[in-house]
Amino acid sequence: MNEPMHFDLVTIGGGFAGLCSAVRGAELGLRTAVLEAGTDDDYLCSSRWAGGIFHVSYHDVKLSPDELLAAINHQTNGETDQQLAAAIAADAGRTVVWLASHGAVFTQGSQIGWHRFALAPPRAPVAGQDWRGRGPDRLLGELRRRLEQRQGRLLLGTRAVALRLERGRVVGVAASKGGKVLDLSAGAVVIADGGFPGNAELFRKYIGPRPDRVLMRHAGTAIGDGLKMAVNAGAGVVGLDRFYGHLLSRDAIENIDLWPYPQIDAVATASIVVDQRGYRILDEGLGGISITNDLAQLDDPLCATVICDAPIWEAAGKSAQIPPNPQLLAAGGTLHQADTIEVLAEAAALSPENLAATVADYNDAVRFNRLATLLPERSTRSGAPRRIETPPFFAIPICAGITNTIGGIAIDEHGRVKRPDGSAITSLYAAGGTTGGLEGGGALGYVGGLIKACVFGLRVAEHAAGQFNREADILK
Ligand SMILES: Cc1cc2nc3c(=O)[nH]c(=O)nc-3n(C[C@H](O)[C@H](O)[C@H](O)COP(=O)(O)OP(=O)(O)OC[C@H]3O[C@@H](n4cnc5c(N)ncnc54)[C@H](O)[C@@H]3O)c2cc1C
Repeated sequence: MNEPMHFDLVTIGGGFAGLCSAVRGAELGLRTAVLEAGTDDDYLCSSRWAGGIFHVSYHDVKLSPDELLAAINHQTNGETDQQLAAAIAADAGRTVVWLASHGAVFTQGSQIGWHRFALAPPRAPVAGQDWRGRGPDRLLGELRRRLEQRQGRLLLGTRAVALRLERGRVVGVAASKGGKVLDLSAGAVVIADGGFPGNAELFRKYIGPRPDRVLMRHAGTAIGDGLKMAVNAGAGVVGLDRFYGHLLSRDAIENIDLWPYPQIDAVATASIVVDQRGYRILDEGLGGISITNDLAQLDDPLCATVICDAPIWEAAGKSAQIPPNPQLLAAGGTLHQADTIEVLAEAAALSPENLAATVADYNDAVRFNRLATLLPERSTRSGAPRRIETPPFFAIPICAGITNTIGGIAIDEHGRVKRPDGSAITSLYAAGGTTGGLEGGGALGYVGGLIKACVFGLRVAEHAAGQFNREADILK
């Protein structure tokens, strides 16, 4: 006989979006439960693996709402849902304050201004995995502790499989735990399962044909359950074809020491990216996230190599916090080096004649300011390119790494799940990486996975609590 379970608020997923919603719901008087598919106390999720830097479109979260809204609009080229963007801009500051009063310890992550709110202790500046005991890992533990202090429950090993609906209203969740089906009735349900970066079928449908040749730069636990459940309940979706990710050494496919860092983005953006024929295949000037998306859409996402010269390798190669120069080699990644482009091409198994011609064309275009005539065009959004002319020359075989999906379930500013006609599905909310509308678009604008998860984690709980008429004054 199944234990009868009734809660005011049931959240699917125990990452930051899920735990923020549950803790906030519990402190507003709701009986809350979090269903978490992972079985261990340190169950894997992107939140646990995060670098821990809270920002809003690469700006300090404590800037004024107007400044933050401008930053989001700039990043997304205005292709963001203005209600969602305004919600982030309005709440980013109070969200880090709330987190700090719920166990988060923030530190200045680096000299960079928008690294002011990094979870402490920050990850070490080393290649490969380094999440255990770091700020995000610790904060998940703190949030869980606060949830349980308020009699909220974290049900580990419990995977939500279907929403229960009555007359168009969500009234509960069916979940599977240890081979048994649990039925939970709920006043409201929050989907916070992280999105679908780990679902090969959805990846093939929306992003590109070869997920097996794209590096899964995430914990592997966000597998699209929430998206499917929401769609079955009548939800709309938005922007599923765009994702947030980075460029990595191609060796990262086999070598765990080469991901999630060092990223090759800065070098690629300052250089050229060619295929095995030695031809440029995309616009490097649009930045690392754009190059990553472009590669993931190809029939063979593993076809690309970055070509640069000594000044680029010395400058862009060292510009990141965990820079490929020298960490790529130190972690066992491939870096070809030669004094001529032709010899470099042979070492990297590229066509020497074509690569020499490509580099010569590119250098001419930079010299004579003819970047727009190149095919593909070379834009300058990520900075002015420089000629590739000073030996030694370098070739880095790369791959695209997907960190998280940025399209997903359509929501309004309270996190209520919307139907395609814009109406809200009663009692159904979504927060964090599973939602769409804020980020993406043609410019592939990124707002920030952590701030998105936590702002909407709080918002959904507050709206649900308002609906329950408890603590009615909290929204005043
Ligand atoms: C390597 C890396 C570095 C990053 N660094 C940063 C950074 O510095 N700054 C930043 O802003 N963002 C960063 N991000 C992105 C950020 O971590 C995520 O966007 C954010 O944590 C997403 O939180 P979430 O709660 O929505 O999802 P998640 O943290 O993925 O949590 C989802 C949870 O749902 C569970 N789940 C899935 N399906 C079910 C189901 N059916 N039933 C029950 N449970 C389920 C999963 O097991 C998981 O625990 C980084 C991500 C990665 C991978």
